[in-house]
Amino acid sequence: MALLQAPVGTRDLLPEELAAWRHVEGRSRDWFERYGYQELRTPLFEYADLFQRGIGEVTDIVEKEMYTFSRGERLYALRPEQTASIVRAYIEHDWASTRRFRKFWYMGPQFRHERKQRHRYRQFYQMGVEAIGSTSPTVDAETMVLAWRLLRDLGVRDLVTELNTIGCAACRPAFRERLREATIPRQAELCPHCQRRLERNVLRLLDCKEPGCAAIARELPRVVDHLCEGCGAHFDAVRGALDALAVEYRVNPLIVRGLDYYSRTVCEFSSPGLGGSQNALGGGGRYDGLLPLLGGPDVGAVGFALGTDRIVEALGAPLAAPPAMDAYVVAVDEESRRDCLLLAERMRTAGLSCELDHEGRSLQKQLRQAHRLGALRSVVVGPEERGRRVARVKVMETGEEREVAFDDLARPEGVAPRGP
Ligand code: AMP
Repeated sequence: MALLQAPVGTRDLLPEELAAWRHVEGRSRDWFERYGYQELRTPLFEYADLFQRGIGEVTDIVEKEMYTFSRGERLYALRPEQTASIVRAYIEHDWASTRRFRKFWYMGPQFRHERKQRHRYRQFYQMGVEAIGSTSPTVDAETMVLAWRLLRDLGVRDLVTELNTIGCAACRPAFRERLREATIPRQAELCPHCQRRLERNVLRLLDCKEPGCAAIARELPRVVDHLCEGCGAHFDAVRGALDALAVEYRVNPLIVRGLDYYSRTVCEFSSPGLGGSQNALGGGGRYDGLLPLLGGPDVGAVGFALGTDRIVEALGAPLAAPPAMDAYVVAVDEESRRDCLLLAERMRTAGLSCELDHEGRSLQKQLRQAHRLGALRSVVVGPEERGRRVARVKVMETGEEREVAFDDLARPEGVAPRGP
């Protein structure tokens, strides 16, 4: 019954999967902050025109993938990505006039009504960074090296890091025209999507995944050969910095990125081992044009977004499950249950994780449950122990056992994480 299923393209992330997610997210936070980024949380929804203007009307996202809804006069959209929101916040809080150069990281769900496919969801998760307020090529290199180091540190299989430039408002229009002219004779061979792109967003032709289009794209003119002086120097500087930082990357002239607001540097990270057409882990680049487009200052910006779902799916070795619990408190008889509740509470407030039975189960069943939950120790209280205010603490794995006074249970010498 549909009522009892998560909507198509969404899913529950189960406790056993979340160990890997928490690992990925924790490491990412750590790396982002090492590079001087601060967290920024923006709303899950914005006025839809932010994305219409900020992402561009002629993109798949805005044309057909946004979840929009209206309340009163206004049209809203669940955020399909986060760069536009972060730029909106930068402008709204007028950060350019206090401390212009700001670095933000974010992490959270994004929503796109895409065709359901392997590694592609309608609610998916992204994490990324945006460095706003500089046009320096070393900032491009610094964001790229951060993503590269993070993905390597996480142990992503077969990581591929690719770089390209797509020029700027000065040199791109002429290149676009050249590309269009070079493609028109082969128009009939293009997929229907690219036939439309030829008129509306010709650069996107270059990264079409259809084999026919991809073969044509390889023969078309390359942006790198048609850069203005400024863009050429910028690209050389980015490459020089990446080489100095010993980043393993390759230049791929076919990378253009789906979103319209990019300029100059673009990059992509992928894991071919993921299989299927959806093996991109993330990408980014410079988007100097976006701030002025949204009515903000012309200060330069660069960033990347990584897909958390796919990173988790691309991790090589599965993570060892963390120990589930420090202790399971076992009541031998009915009268001991109240003491067990108090002892569990005492251990929990001392920072230990523990569980106990609430269903009046037999001793046997409680011990079985302790095993099932992966408890490191059992803490057993019966009539005899209760009289002496002690518990029998047993290390589940070795069977090693000793008595610990109630008052000592929550102390390091009682049920300490490493002690028996
Ligand atoms: P984009 O914002 O389109 O540049 O996407 C950046 C990254 O987010 C991609 O490389 C994917 O890893 C991830 N991503 C984008 N869309 C989806 C989706 N529908 N499902 C899962 N991951 C996605």
